[in-house]
Amino acid sequence: MTVASPVLSVLAGLGAVRGWQEDFYRDLHRHPELSHQERRTAAKVGERLGQAGYRVHRGVGGTGVVGVLGSGDGPTVLLRADMDALPVREATDLPYASTVATPDASGNQVPVAHACGHDVHVTCLLGAAQLLAEGTARWSGTVVALFQPAEETGDGARGMLDDGLAGLIPTPDVALAQHVLPAPAGHVGTHAGPVLSAADSMRVTVHGRGAHGSMPQAAVDPVVLAAMIVVRLQTIVSREIPPAQTAVLTVGSIQAGMKSNVIPDHAVLQLNIRTYSEQTRSAILDAVRRIVTAECQASGCSKDPEFELFDRFPLTDNDPATTDRVAAAFGEFFGDRAGPMGQQTASEDFSDIPTALGVPYTYWGIGGIDGQTYRRAEAAGRVAQDIPVNHSANFAPVIQPTLDTGTQALVVAALAWLAR
Ligand code: ZN
Ligand code: ZN
Repeated sequence: MTVASPVLSVLAGLGAVRGWQEDFYRDLHRHPELSHQERRTAAKVGERLGQAGYRVHRGVGGTGVVGVLGSGDGPTVLLRADMDALPVREATDLPYASTVATPDASGNQVPVAHACGHDVHVTCLLGAAQLLAEGTARWSGTVVALFQPAEETGDGARGMLDDGLAGLIPTPDVALAQHVLPAPAGHVGTHAGPVLSAADSMRVTVHGRGAHGSMPQAAVDPVVLAAMIVVRLQTIVSREIPPAQTAVLTVGSIQAGMKSNVIPDHAVLQLNIRTYSEQTRSAILDAVRRIVTAECQASGCSKDPEFELFDRFPLTDNDPATTDRVAAAFGEFFGDRAGPMGQQTASEDFSDIPTALGVPYTYWGIGGIDGQTYRRAEAAGRVAQDIPVNHSANFAPVIQPTLDTGTQALVVAALAWLAR
């Protein structure tokens, strides 16, 4: 047996934890809450953390909950789970599928589902927190179990920091987080370096001059201008970014005009930009501003364009030494169920927390798809078509071994710093 005995000893209680975890998970799945509205979830989290012996801080950055548990001198490990669900109408046929609908931030009634699997993250971290609390004889240091609101809107982590998170917890030595992915359940994947992209959305408003559709000479046509901008923006990634750098620039929305014979006076474009380095990110944002401004001049606009950035997510750039330490611990515990995870095109706001606190971090993936189902799809070359991904109305992680694996992964990784 090569696995460090503190790990096996702390995880010996997994069977008992599993007893409540599965029901807890089904309940969370049935009661999803939108970003910034995670009140029921937060109350349940606070209650369990308190029962497990944690000092609990509630209402951090809105609905955030932080539990702190010390066991003598040693490093501080921050473990993070996100709690929010999405405005998606669940289309799984799970017996515990969500039928919830609630008003969103604009007051519109929307269906809500845990289509990103954050209910898995919450349940796993609560289980790991309890196991660590029951196993304090086998480790020393401090565990910070952090339950973050509003990951999907990209502002939950910042909200907790702005609300004084740093003053509530000892400064961590390392911060760790995980996400359930459309990969075989029971497997864990790590990746050193940039693992999730930075994301920026930008609203660009260009101002022309409206006129009758039959009198173009009296207009500065923002429709033609917007079309030129869309074409020209395609040259940023293809002509300005080094081929070895990965980046995406999508124009997801153009709006101008209401009627065929009226030349409108403005157009609005919405862009989404994904990058894996700060350098590429700022190069693309600068290029967008330069091209839009120049096209407006070329069209003879009398007013400057307007740029508004929104839904911004930081880069998730896993610290290599921290990732190696977690990967080694995973390899020892999970054997061939641990491996590398490729770069993902999704984005996350977790890194805002370690970045603000100045501590290294790593973020890994756990599989959530039934192993047989996944292998069948893989054999048929139909993974992309047949395996529902996060944010899909059909995303349905299997309860086991997903919950066991996510719980074990958190304990194993935390003990890579804390084990006696
Ligand atoms: Zn998501
Ligand atoms: Zn997510």
